[in-house]
Amino acid sequence: MLTTENHDRDLEGYKYVYPVISRRAGGLSVGINLNTNNACNWRCIYCQVPNLVRGAPPPVSLPDLNFELKSFLQKVLVGNYLREEVPEGMRRLNDIAFSGNGEPTSSPNFSDVVELLAQTRSDLPVDASVKTVLITNGSLIHQKDVQLGIAQLKTITGEVWFKVDSVTKEGVARINDSPFSLSKTSSNLETAASLCDTWIQTCVFDFDGLPPSEHEQNSYLKFLRDVALNAEVRGVLLYGVARKSYQPEAPRISRLDLSWLESFSKKILELGLAVKISH
Ligand code: SF4
Repeated sequence: MLTTENHDRDLEGYKYVYPVISRRAGGLSVGINLNTNNACNWRCIYCQVPNLVRGAPPPVSLPDLNFELKSFLQKVLVGNYLREEVPEGMRRLNDIAFSGNGEPTSSPNFSDVVELLAQTRSDLPVDASVKTVLITNGSLIHQKDVQLGIAQLKTITGEVWFKVDSVTKEGVARINDSPFSLSKTSSNLETAASLCDTWIQTCVFDFDGLPPSEHEQNSYLKFLRDVALNAEVRGVLLYGVARKSYQPEAPRISRLDLSWLESFSKKILELGLAVKISH
């Protein structure tokens, strides 16, 4: 039986599709991993992808993905999968999520993949209450093909979860090992929110025993006030580090107390944005 701890992408023996039980959502999430080569254009120090490499994935085989999606969703929707594999109280399909071993929008045929998923959802059919979530670092949303995919996502109860862990050059370099441009992040966030419901997802943790500095916190809150509010994002998903990092910095990262997240979330709420905490 599946557990909330098991995030093994090979569980069903598929290349792209895998099941995850989400304790927070209280149901089954069907994950789609487009980055089968563990390649990402970022290298977040808390990343849980083993053998992460820099780069982009190869094109997705649409026939293979079509087969995997159809056969797995059928098992869930009309077969015995939920009864046999999912613990009681969690036996519902909560969402389908692009959440894999790298940045999903770096797939060369991202918009084709979203279109295929939309067709599959309509053919089966998958109920409109089942969300389709794109978990993204947001760095490629200026690209036309990605925008096409996100616009299509909206038609299938889509949500974009846009990663913003820091809005300072030093913070992004240290946490995401990536270059940072405030204007690019702002404009990509605005584009995402104009195309589809968008949440900001932010991971917070102790680094070398210290929480995010006052400067980091204030810069982040200013970004929310100046950019996120205007872009009408739905709110902030504030995460602690629940699972072990596979990056060399892992020993320097530890969990913040829930009280830290709660107190920081109050500052976000005061700006007029919704917050969901996941500790
Ligand atoms: S963006 Fe996601 S997949 Fe890429 S390094 Fe960061 S956490 Fe890992």
